[in-house]
Amino acid sequence: MPVRSLAVAAAATLTLAGLAGAAHPAFSPADLRYARQAVPANDGWASTGAGTTGGSKADAAHVTVAHNRAELVAAVAGDTPKIVFVSGAIDLSVDADNHHRDCASYADPAYRLDDFLAAYDPAVWGRTAKPSGPLEDARARSAANQGLTVKVNVGSNTTIVGINHAHLSHGSLLLAGVSNVIVRNIQFSDAADCFPAWDPTDGDTGNWNSLYDLVSLTGATNVWIDHNTFNDGDNPDSDQPLLFGRPYQVHDGASDIIKASDLVTVSWNAYSNHDKTMLIGSTDTVGVDLGKLRVTVHHNKFDNVLQRAPRVRFGQVDVYDNYYIATSPDYQYSLGVGVQSAIYAQNNYFKLGQTPAGNVIHYWKGTAITATGTLVEPAKPVDLVAAYNAAHDPDLIPDAGWTPTARTHVEPAWAVPALVSLLGGSH
Ligand code: CA
Ligand code: CA
Repeated sequence: MPVRSLAVAAAATLTLAGLAGAAHPAFSPADLRYARQAVPANDGWASTGAGTTGGSKADAAHVTVAHNRAELVAAVAGDTPKIVFVSGAIDLSVDADNHHRDCASYADPAYRLDDFLAAYDPAVWGRTAKPSGPLEDARARSAANQGLTVKVNVGSNTTIVGINHAHLSHGSLLLAGVSNVIVRNIQFSDAADCFPAWDPTDGDTGNWNSLYDLVSLTGATNVWIDHNTFNDGDNPDSDQPLLFGRPYQVHDGASDIIKASDLVTVSWNAYSNHDKTMLIGSTDTVGVDLGKLRVTVHHNKFDNVLQRAPRVRFGQVDVYDNYYIATSPDYQYSLGVGVQSAIYAQNNYFKLGQTPAGNVIHYWKGTAITATGTLVEPAKPVDLVAAYNAAHDPDLIPDAGWTPTARTHVEPAWAVPALVSLLGGSH
């Protein structure tokens, strides 16, 4: 081939490569505009204080795309302003070669579930003390081993946005001691704990408890969780056995907000088919949470979630324009009134089926809750506090003692099911 033809061929190849790159860019200008959004002015508690801008001011060198766990872990670390696109499906339980790790791969050599069950059967171990000894130690080592892989620590000043139907599975996004973080447009599924802990002293019957929330805020300030989808994926709780007469619960929270976290807006998310959904405050002890745990929960869909939507301690929590589908026979409650909590619930819509309206609110040692503008399908106005008080004791005062101001728009409850079903969740 003549030299000139070679040059032409090379140029053509380069041009095609360039075109191919342009035709399939990592993210679009519209994606980048979306990722550079801060929480809107007045949109809930996250818009107050220092405000929540996440990584919106990132320079071009700090706009990256993560396609697997290792890229995600590296991209979200540190406090430099940064935008991290999560592209497509990412399994967070993988080895260095990005191959899936199953539960057996995390188990300590000294851990076997059968041995654990034999040792801590209430008939053998009793019900007054938590498990201790070599088998419990082996379980704890196994759990720690899994945690090293499946927990992803997010730094401050970060925006994480999903593209290409982003889906994070088998792991936990951890916002610990950080501030100014935005998480949008991602599906989170099945952060299953391979090694649930048995606590015979939890409640009257004991419980199996797990470690990993899909998204976990602990000591996190100014956070916006928006347009995400949360569920148990292809690992529903109904597939798990009863052990010691209790469900072997491998899932913890969907999006828990604990340990002095503050100034959080949780908006337009779709939660479905999950048990413990949103815990705000994890201890009754009066301490670091006092004056914190201020969260706005608006335009979310809670579809067949069984409890904690949300359960609140200490915080002033604004819960408006949410759609609850609470028809499951396993449904427990939606609004948990914990110690010194101040829930202001307005214009929420409930589909209850056979569930009594008096069960929507649950007493967890709080004293008061505001609940106004509630509709129960088919669009019947219901006073949730009066319904609770008629069915349960102690009675709750129907006034949480504060009125939310950081709100952008409040729709009437009748409009909420269609709005959040059409516009909520990740896409
Ligand atoms: Ca949790
Ligand atoms: Ca009563």
